[in-house]
Amino acid sequence: MTATAFTMLDERFRYVDGDFVLERLHTGCRKTEGPAYFPAGRYLIWSDIPNDRLMRWDETSGTVGVFRQNSGYANGNTVDRQGRLITCEQGNRRVTRTEHDGRVTVLADTYRGHRLNSPNDVVVRGDGTIWFTDPVYGISSDYEGHRAESEFGGACYVFRLDPDTGDLRVVADDFSRPNGLAFSPDERLLYIADTRQEPSHIRVFEVTGYGALQGGDIFATCDFGRFDGLRADTDGRIWAAAWDGVHCFAPDGTLIGKLLTPEPVANLTFGGAQLNHLFITAGTSVYALRVTFNGVNLLTSPSRAGR
Ligand code: MG
Repeated sequence: MTATAFTMLDERFRYVDGDFVLERLHTGCRKTEGPAYFPAGRYLIWSDIPNDRLMRWDETSGTVGVFRQNSGYANGNTVDRQGRLITCEQGNRRVTRTEHDGRVTVLADTYRGHRLNSPNDVVVRGDGTIWFTDPVYGISSDYEGHRAESEFGGACYVFRLDPDTGDLRVVADDFSRPNGLAFSPDERLLYIADTRQEPSHIRVFEVTGYGALQGGDIFATCDFGRFDGLRADTDGRIWAAAWDGVHCFAPDGTLIGKLLTPEPVANLTFGGAQLNHLFITAGTSVYALRVTFNGVNLLTSPSRAGR
């Protein structure tokens, strides 16, 4: 247990409350990322990237075990509308889905005949489409993947995949290192972090009716370290992983508060049946905190009936 340190910078942060301690669920990993909570099974999956494994925490017993060794250097994970695990295997340079029977289906590994760089993070929209970023971290060294040349000449795209048809499209091509993504509660906006900008920033796009993006203004910049994973709560606030903790932004882009953590944060997700448990992958550990606000629920999201 470690005392929770909230820093309030704006009154819109004031009803952030709940646990007074940040619970460390597990430590001893090399670099944690990609938390994804499965409400039906009451467990959390995350990636331990350099150790090339996926881990699993069982909420009912508190035990932790290896979910998959040789994970293709899995990085970002999420859950689709049917409750299946979607994984960015940055070492295998592909996005996969783990079916209910345990088989692994490759959803995307090439674009126009070229291998993807190393998919990093992923989010599923209520209409079932899968949006992911493809920077080069998994091919720039052997530390968390396999060193290789980019088949896009170093370009790092953001993709939209329709898993039913296999249609894969570039939706943004002007990022340096696209990383975490999150939709607004109404799914009309998509926030995407660009880690390597100076300072690191988050851009906001409008999602058009055709599943393209427009706009892309800078929404927020990072005042400590670099942004990585993102999540939205039901009030449209954006929670962003940074090196001193999780930064919270109002929908207008104002930094309204921080949740300070003992280790640099890579990613976060909301879990529990009410989506009011905050799970944070940071450094070598995974932390949890019950809070007085809620994450966005994909299964009740507005575009669910959109197709
Ligand atoms: Mg990331």
